[in-house]
Order: sequence, then C-alpha cells, then structure tokens
Amino acid sequence: MDRLDQFMARANACYYATRDPYADFTTSPEISQVFGELLGLWAAVVWEQIGRPVPVVLAEAGPGRGTLMTDALRALRQTAPGFAAALRLVLIESSPRLRALQAERLPGACWIDGLNELPGAPLILLANEFLDALPIRQFVRRGAGWTERFVDRGMFHEHPAAAPPDPVAAAEGDVIEVGETARAATAVLAARVVAQGGAALIIDYGPATGAPGESLQALRGSRPADPLARPGEADLTAHVDFGAIAATAAAAGAAVHGPVAQGKFLTRLGLYPRSHILARGADPVRAAALIEAARRLAEPDRMGSLFKVLALCQPGRPTPPGFEP
Ligand code: SAH
Repeated sequence: MDRLDQFMARANACYYATRDPYADFTTSPEISQVFGELLGLWAAVVWEQIGRPVPVVLAEAGPGRGTLMTDALRALRQTAPGFAAALRLVLIESSPRLRALQAERLPGACWIDGLNELPGAPLILLANEFLDALPIRQFVRRGAGWTERFVDRGMFHEHPAAAPPDPVAAAEGDVIEVGETARAATAVLAARVVAQGGAALIIDYGPATGAPGESLQALRGSRPADPLARPGEADLTAHVDFGAIAATAAAAGAAVHGPVAQGKFLTRLGLYPRSHILARGADPVRAAALIEAARRLAEPDRMGSLFKVLALCQPGRPTPPGFEP
C-alpha cells in the first residue's frame, strides 16, 4: 500500500521514462512558438534588471521536448547577445528519454536531476507545467477529523491522519490536496534566488488562492482516465496551489510577484503584436493558425485564466516584466 504521493511519484517517473507525453497532452510552447520567445525575452530583461551578471545560469525545470527553450534561445540570441553569451544552460529533467530529445535540440546544455544540484551563480529559471506533475497528498474530511488517501490495487484506502497543514473549512467528504514536493521545490528555488540572485518564473494551472479540491487527473491517449488504473501508462497531474507556493517563497525571503493570469501576462509581454508580425510573413493558413494559437493561450475561457504565472525574485530588484501593478 502506497501513500498517494508515493504512488504518483512512481507512476509519473515510469510514465515520463517510457512514454511520449505529447501523445497524451499538449502544452503552451507546443501551441505557439511565441510562448517560448516571450519567455526568452522575459529572461533577458530580468538579466538586465539584476545587473547583467556573468556567468548566469539559465535553467528550465521539466523541459519536455525542449521546445520552450529552443524558442527562447532563438529570440534572446537576436535581441540580447550579451545575455546569450553569458548564460550557462541547465536543464532539470528526470527522464532519460526526454533528455535525449532535449539534447537533439539544445546542444551545449547540461542536465541535472533536481533543483538541489543547480550550479552556484545567479539563476533565471523557467518552469512551465512542471509543478503540476509533482506528487500530491490527499486528505479527506471525516467527522471532526481527517483521513489520508493511500492506494492499493487500483483503489483508494483511507487512514486516519493529522489535519492538512493549512487551515481550511471543509464539509464531510471534502478532499484537500497538499503538494508537499512542489512546496519543497519552491523553498529551494526561493532560497537560491535570495542568496545568489535571480528569479524563477512558474507557469501552471490552478487556483490563485485556496487549496485545490480534488483535482488529480490522468490523461491516457489524450482522454481522461482512472488515475489509479495502469500506473505508468497515463500522465498524472494535479492543480497547483499558488497560494501555498507564494507563501512558501515569501517565507524563504523571496519577493513574490503574482500570480497573474497567463492571458494577462502574455498580452503584457506582447503576445498579439508578435503573433501578428509572424502572421504577416506567413501563408494564409499559417497566419490564421498563429492568431488562433495566441487566442488559445490568452483567452480567459481557454488557457488564459486557469493558467497562472508567478515570479520569485531576489528582494530589492525591479518588478519583472508582466507583473506591473
Ligand atoms: N515544460 C514542458 C513539459 C511539461 S511535462 C512543456 O511545457 O511542454 C513535465 C516535464 O517535467 C517533463 O519533462 C517531465 O519529464 C519532467 N518531470 C516530471 N517530474 C519530474 C521530476 N520529479 N524531476 C525532474 N523532472 C521531472
């Protein structure tokens, strides 16, 4: 019998090591090249804001196919050659299979298994849909107390447990999720940028405040599946608790900006003008696809409002682009 977070960690490690996740889902960088380009320019502006340190680590957590970073590097090489020359590219990736795909597109990168291994230098880190893949625990309100969910042979089992860490109002049977691993990753990142300078940009889906209720989901063959059935064959994710992430970062001394809705953030960074410039030079089919992709990323009833963007920065630096009040 495994606690749910142990089950999820093992299932996802197997899933990412053996499957092509993009057969089951798509992500923002795969939808439009402009997504990665804008994040590359964001990183370049942050590098200026923190005093153009040399060397600087440009890192990505969970780079998938390497699409985001490929687009980011292309954009920043054109507009910020000083940054391009100064940066050391570091990718945090646990899957050997995905590392091999990333290596084809990102020559010169170096790979590490976890955030603890980041080399010592000012850091600019990007993480899109990384935290949602990290294991969560689920607590269930029962009577005056709580139980925690464990998994055995494809079924949930509940065992009496202490209350979840943040005080919550919950009715009988309500499920509260706690992303301990995401909080621990945030604490490491926040401590890093406080001590050595830099910023981390976290993009994911989840509520801006309040713990997510039951949001654990599985995708297999692009369709929702039973998260407990056939572990390792489906992508398991859960909504990110941005309130807890922000509080964890603030407790570690970081300046926290956001969360802001992805649509607002990307629009402020120039999503539409950049997409229109690309569309002008493209054939009509591709032009229409570029504009449609921008709308998919930014419109509130699509990815623009469920997805949030949060930045953790060394205190005393200017507000990074996209987070202006
Ligand atoms: N950021 C990419 C991919 C998101 S999928 C995109 O936007 O398309 C999640 C990514 O995180 C995959 O690359 C997966 O292998 C990686 N990953 C998941 N859990 C991880 C862990 N515990 N440590 C390191 N990488 C992990």
